[in-house]
Amino acid sequence: MKPVDLGELEDPVSIQTDLCIVGSGPAGSSIAKEFAGSMIQVLVIEGGGTEESTADQALYTVENVGAIRAPQEGVRNRVVGGSSHGWSGRCTSFDEIDFESRAWVPNSGWPITFEEVRPFSDRSRAHLGLGPNVYDDHLWKKLGISPPYPQIDPACLKSQFWQYSTDQHNAFGPTRFSRTLAAIDASNVRLLIHANVTQINTSMDVTGIVSLDVRTLEGKRAEVKARVVVLACGGLENARLLLASNKIALNGIGNSHDLVGRFLMDHPGCKLGWFDPNRAFPIQDRFGSYYLDHESGRNAYEFGLAINDELQRKEQLLNCAAFLGILGSPDDPSGAAKRLISNVKLLSAETPRSWGAQAGKDISILTTNFPRLLRNAYRRFAKLRGAIVKAEELYLYCLVEQIPNPSSRVTLGERTDALGMPILRIDWRIGEIERRSVVRFNELIGSELRRVGLPKYTPNSHLSDDFDWRSNFVDRAHPSGTTRMADSPRLGVVDRNCKVHGVAGLYIAGSSVFPTIGHANPTLMIVAMAIRLADWLKRHEFANA
Ligand SMILES: Cc1cc2nc3c(=O)[nH]c(=O)nc-3n(C[C@H](O)[C@H](O)[C@H](O)COP(=O)(O)OP(=O)(O)OC[C@H]3O[C@@H](n4cnc5c(N)ncnc54)[C@H](O)[C@@H]3O)c2cc1C
Repeated sequence: MKPVDLGELEDPVSIQTDLCIVGSGPAGSSIAKEFAGSMIQVLVIEGGGTEESTADQALYTVENVGAIRAPQEGVRNRVVGGSSHGWSGRCTSFDEIDFESRAWVPNSGWPITFEEVRPFSDRSRAHLGLGPNVYDDHLWKKLGISPPYPQIDPACLKSQFWQYSTDQHNAFGPTRFSRTLAAIDASNVRLLIHANVTQINTSMDVTGIVSLDVRTLEGKRAEVKARVVVLACGGLENARLLLASNKIALNGIGNSHDLVGRFLMDHPGCKLGWFDPNRAFPIQDRFGSYYLDHESGRNAYEFGLAINDELQRKEQLLNCAAFLGILGSPDDPSGAAKRLISNVKLLSAETPRSWGAQAGKDISILTTNFPRLLRNAYRRFAKLRGAIVKAEELYLYCLVEQIPNPSSRVTLGERTDALGMPILRIDWRIGEIERRSVVRFNELIGSELRRVGLPKYTPNSHLSDDFDWRSNFVDRAHPSGTTRMADSPRLGVVDRNCKVHGVAGLYIAGSSVFPTIGHANPTLMIVAMAIRLADWLKRHEFANA
């Protein structure tokens, strides 16, 4: 599908469609793909273009008044495909416990169950280029091998796997949803780019949507009318658009109970502790990658650890998981081989001279480290295992769940962006229960690694420092919860079908609807919930089409 640039259309631009999806990231693109070839006319409206630009990115500027977050105009991508433009493709599943209402996690509990989402997670494999959704000890059987011996005590820590998304259109990276959209070959789906939605117009009683105001950065305007609108602008921007649509509903749309923007969660990430990089083999051997051949290809699964569900209940902990982080040494041959392969791919675009300098160094690294390279090739192709990397730093990295805290929130700031929209003011909070869970998780890891005889592990002592612990955490660009799902409009912004309470035809896709987020990277769940929403819309909003 070829995009249409709003800037190139003749004035006045007024578009009528059945379904309008705002945002072309994993959420929006997955819904568009589900509708491709149907009788429903679909318009995807995307603020960015097919390439990133500084001016588009500047629309993501925020004012940060809370815990440390990476610069938001840098880590989110305002471009076709959204933040899948730069994501790493790491995927895993939520756990059943993440959906439960837990007494020690205020405001927890989804109105739907894990079982209801499971079939959609399975369907999302095709969107994300994933192998089977198996992320626990059942994977050993699928791999046809026994778990590493001696085993970690499953009563305190469980095996946790992550797998990597693979792009159907490019074997060397994770799924970029810009390519998903480009590959749609159906006349009922259109993509409008450089088209920023600045206002959702509703009826005077705010019970239905009337139109969307759309603008380019150069000031070109359009009006879009649709029977159904799905906001798929990302975990922060969905809330911003609702709050900024305040011409009729003065507090913003869907905000009669002052919930839009609240309950902001992310995954505070931190280094838990370090291993000696000179004693790397047993660590990398246990925590490394396992390749699984399955009906539709081969995927890498990475091993890690998570807190056992029963222990979470018993000790009132949040869900946490940890995986191995490796800072490769500059003369690591696997790194050199990867660079060579990606440079060969770029060769047509680069001058041979600039390519040659780095390639010369990499070839020299490969020849000097030839025995290691051979051992890694044997592991990779004969044993279906990941490489043992020559490391400078070897550590465990943790992602921790957060409690949904109403004071952790986004609001509209005083300043405006180039479109005249108020920028977001982010007050992200990390609380004591998050720290307590991580510290306890780390204690369990330390004692279990000792018990199974792995080389010395040095825990991060800063996590126990009463003054300094917060500065050890940073967000993982997984903003969630700001338009949370609940059956009652007093408790959530959208209902169990992702419809904004009280507003006919307005739906939300993406992690902003998640009431809690476990430790799992969100995109697999985002895509699963997007497919679920597409099914709902087909059956309920477009049943007669
Ligand atoms: C560096 C990085 C690494 C990551 N790695 C992982 C990972 O390994 N695993 C994982 O699960 N997740 C990862 N993530 C998170 C992942 O990218 C997001 O979960 C995912 O992209 C969210 O999808 P989305 O469609 O909801 O939103 P987005 O991807 O943010 O897409 C939203 C789209 O809406 C558009 N838009 C926004 N506002 C407007 C507007 N007003 N009008 C029109 N268009 C608008 C944007 O331009 C964008 O294209 C990573 C993120 C980053 C930044």
